[in-house]
Amino acid sequence: MTAATVPTVTLNDGNRIPQLGFGVFKVDPAETQRVVEDALEVGYRHLDTAAVYGNEEGVGAAIAGSGIPREELFVTTKLWNTDQGAQAPFAAFDASLDRLGLDRVDLYLIHWPVPARGLYLDTWRALERIAASGRARSIGVSNFQIPHLEALLAATATVPAVNQIEVHPAFPQRALREWAAERGIRTESWGPLGQGKYDLGELPGLTDIAARHGVTIPQVVLRWHLQEGLIVFPKTTSRERMRENLDVFGFELSTEELETLRAADEGRRVGPDPDTFGA
Ligand code: NAD
Repeated sequence: MTAATVPTVTLNDGNRIPQLGFGVFKVDPAETQRVVEDALEVGYRHLDTAAVYGNEEGVGAAIAGSGIPREELFVTTKLWNTDQGAQAPFAAFDASLDRLGLDRVDLYLIHWPVPARGLYLDTWRALERIAASGRARSIGVSNFQIPHLEALLAATATVPAVNQIEVHPAFPQRALREWAAERGIRTESWGPLGQGKYDLGELPGLTDIAARHGVTIPQVVLRWHLQEGLIVFPKTTSRERMRENLDVFGFELSTEELETLRAADEGRRVGPDPDTFGA
């Protein structure tokens, strides 16, 4: 498996993102450098972190030591809720760049809308200026619901390149994804394996599909994300699972299998509710 195997997706601003990457939510800051070094060695070239994860330094140290040319890497980080506003994002962004040891990121996201605080439009205008400075090649949002995106599109000039939301077979969020796709916003899946909070093997048909292709259940689920056109970055600290999660380009789910997986939709949110989180 090489980095070249991973397809790229073109965003609405013309920038390209590897469709499969590596996430570091809940990776212990003390362990992050080693974990990301392993991920880069295994072949991942797209890394997803956030200021609030507390591990941007480890991500940056791994990048610095890897010798991989910067243009071959795609690095995303996110603005935390307490740094929303008209001015606060600038210092927060600089601090993220410092911790990462980079002079630009490939994608910068508003982590949660926090609608009760009413700051996400001002925050977005700050991100537009950061993008204009060239220090974030693309900008986007995370955990935005349709009303938040509607408000943002009505009041500001830039359509977000992505909306990073919770997506897994029991919570596919089709309505939000379709709404976004119609407006040129790509969906990124967080918690693509359900964060291990439910047994994927209990979903209808999954075990049979995995057996038919001679792959594991997480591999089927990641393949489902890719064939659904989603951008995905599973997290693991195990090198073996890093390899497993990247090794999803040697088989294809049939239309019928994709249809079977549609039946897994239980409206099962495992993470926080974006309408109230952070308020
Ligand atoms: P995930 O669905 O990737 O699940 C991670 C869990 O699955 C871990 O416990 C891991 O041990 C297990 N796992 C991974 N590969 C496995 C395999 N092959 N076999 C068995 N178990 C396996 O959940 P996540 O880490 O929350 O989501 C992925 C990334 O999405 C994060 O690391 C982060 O970058 C991003 N994220 C973003 C937000 C947001 O609000 N924007 C929220 C959560 C996560």
